[in-house]
Amino acid sequence: MNQYAGSARADRGNAVVCDLRSDTVTQPCAAMRKTMADAEVGDDVYGEDPVVNRLEATLAERLGKEAGLFVPSGTMSNFLGMLAHCQRGEEILIGEGYHVNAYEAQGASVLGGIALSTLPVAEDGALEADVVAGAVKDDDSHLAITKLLSLENTHNGMAVSLERTAAAVNAGREHGLSTHLDGARFFNAITSLNCAETDLSGMFDTVSICLSKGLGAPVGSVLVGPKDLINRARRWRKMVGGGMRQAGVLAAAGLYALDNNVAGLAEDRARAAQLAQELAALGAGTVTQSTNMVFFTPDGSQNDDLRAHLAGQGVVIGGGAQGAIRLVLHKDVDDEALRKTVDGFQSFFA
Ligand SMILES: *Cc1c(COP(=O)(O)O)cnc(C)c1O
Repeated sequence: MNQYAGSARADRGNAVVCDLRSDTVTQPCAAMRKTMADAEVGDDVYGEDPVVNRLEATLAERLGKEAGLFVPSGTMSNFLGMLAHCQRGEEILIGEGYHVNAYEAQGASVLGGIALSTLPVAEDGALEADVVAGAVKDDDSHLAITKLLSLENTHNGMAVSLERTAAAVNAGREHGLSTHLDGARFFNAITSLNCAETDLSGMFDTVSICLSKGLGAPVGSVLVGPKDLINRARRWRKMVGGGMRQAGVLAAAGLYALDNNVAGLAEDRARAAQLAQELAALGAGTVTQSTNMVFFTPDGSQNDDLRAHLAGQGVVIGGGAQGAIRLVLHKDVDDEALRKTVDGFQSFFA
């Protein structure tokens, strides 16, 4: 069962007080909407939208890169990054469970003629340096050309350490690979690692960041990197139909999020830790937590009954009929919502 499984809105009996399926469910707040409405806009395909330009420049500068590219989604951002790095017949080394391999419909292969070579992901979410090195193919006409190493941080909520990330990246670089980071939750990682943004971004040629998850913007991701790669990605964006016009109304939400919603990621993490503690105290299953995510595996495959019970209290969770249920904390879950959620779990297992 994948992480996107979960009840549809129509299935819910009660008003929703807490939706823990994902941080993608976050709503733009009133102040964000006002900023969007007030945004000065222009035609971004002509390069004339001032707010899009500011968002791209802001994230590029924060992450120590030359340029940025605003796109509708993280999937497109990763996709354009791969197309910018790789030619047809080249290959990407990627963790098997990483989003780019597992949840992006193999777009790089299907549409880009790029092979994905999957590597096992270690328990902490990293790729092992020796596994990376061992996966680089020889220069042999029988084989694809290994070109890019693509990592992910956070992975399943886990903030992979700078040391482990550097080891994998260095192994790739020693073999001449370029590097990409799927940083959909880059700022959750930074918050947890307690490091500077450039400490992580500086290891990679390109980084993709989602604005529409914990940061709370309704739409948008940004790909940052060197000018030549971002120019290539911009041409690919046009080809796949992602050139947007007066997109400043959307970029304004992203800028608002960067200014106002990064600090709150520490609160999401603290609430995740609190929820994990409460669930562990129930003694009703196994619990793990990292950054804003809790994974709870109830004893005895009670997932469907638990989900129905919680839905009756306005608490929405995802997950399948068995196995781990992913619970994601985000800015729209406050202490009151968390308390009702804990009450719901307690009354089920009482
Ligand atoms: C959500 C996510 C993406 C893709 O973002 P979308 O905006 O949903 O396309 C990519 N990578 C990771 C790790 C994600 O969690």
